[in-house]
Amino acid sequence: MAGNCSRPVKAVIFDLDGTLLDTESLVRSVSATVLERHGAKLTPDAEKAALGRRPLEAWQAVIEVLDVKGSTAQQLFDESEPLLQARWPDAHLLPGAERLLHHLHAKGVPVALATSSSRASLQRKLFTENKRHILEQFQAVTCGDEVAEGKPAPDAFRNIASQLQLDPADCLAFEDAPSGVDSATAAGMRVVVVPSLTNRLAYPKPEIDAKSGCCEVLSSLLDFQPSQYGLPGFEDLICGVTPMHPPWRLVGTVVKGFGRGSKELGIPTANLDNSALQAVLAETVTGIYCGWASIGSSSETYKMVMSIGWNPFYKNTEKTAEPWLLHDFPEDFYGEQLRLAVCGYIRPEANFTSLEALIARIHEDARISRNSNTRIAVDCLATECCTISNQHPKLHCLLRSLGISQCEAWH
Ligand SMILES: [Mg+2]
Repeated sequence: MAGNCSRPVKAVIFDLDGTLLDTESLVRSVSATVLERHGAKLTPDAEKAALGRRPLEAWQAVIEVLDVKGSTAQQLFDESEPLLQARWPDAHLLPGAERLLHHLHAKGVPVALATSSSRASLQRKLFTENKRHILEQFQAVTCGDEVAEGKPAPDAFRNIASQLQLDPADCLAFEDAPSGVDSATAAGMRVVVVPSLTNRLAYPKPEIDAKSGCCEVLSSLLDFQPSQYGLPGFEDLICGVTPMHPPWRLVGTVVKGFGRGSKELGIPTANLDNSALQAVLAETVTGIYCGWASIGSSSETYKMVMSIGWNPFYKNTEKTAEPWLLHDFPEDFYGEQLRLAVCGYIRPEANFTSLEALIARIHEDARISRNSNTRIAVDCLATECCTISNQHPKLHCLLRSLGISQCEAWH
């Protein structure tokens, strides 16, 4: 088992902001607006200092990092709250969050929430048409305004363990922020760290230390393996691939590559124009995905495998999307528009000790994609359509809505 997890986990406790819910971009935008009114500029250091704390304490942390003359944390809080409250309903669930919550709930594993958000903010964030069911899955909830001290103090996680009538050592916490990790470990829980998606590079890499309770650091909730903690394993994998529910779409223009000779290596990836994709990629989990692709106005579709991330072996400075269409094309298609339907997640991004090892792994990813893609697409699209059973025309329509006109799924 991972970390000091010889003791089976009896309950799973989640942080909310940055762990289950993508609120960072909203907080960043509102914080920048408020600070601008006070002649200050939001910096990565200020964001890092505020991460995971209760709102008023987060503003105090920002003031201590930035030179905000003549303004108190209370003033900045009072200005930001109405703006944030108006935008909370727009926050969406992070990749893998709904899948993990649903899985644990279905298997009878108690799940609970320990958030720095106030109760009123929590209602605004989750009490929406498409997220209300999430709130119903928690057996216990502790909000930031319901404990004496906020994170990094252990109060929130201790409170949750008490509500569940469990020893904190029987609980596994999920956290994105350093203050949250400190809070959970101080309460005596083991922690899986899933660093902030958009602040990944600014995050101080936590020490994986079994004794302190920090069991592992993951790129996203998609990478969590419940069985490593004595919890029931996922049953939705298809040939080892996690289906995307729903599948997502990526459209980009094919540009010249990085000059790495990928074509010579037998891996002719199509590099997408990064300038147009930055906003999308910033909120996309790094890793290797599979799905389908079509080029320009053509109705032909091809299986594809795609890397999203910084490609550690080549030490990219920009996050990129590099799909490999698994088909022999007679000529290049630079300048064409590529439409991708991303249906499955294969694995996290990784580094390799040699070019040979990298190439071998990419070919293995392609093999997985070839073997699983049809079943993955059908599975993904089945969730979009309740009456799927052999109704290929409906599937056909759904694939068309993803920009894919034909599919081997029914040929
Ligand atoms: Mg958080």
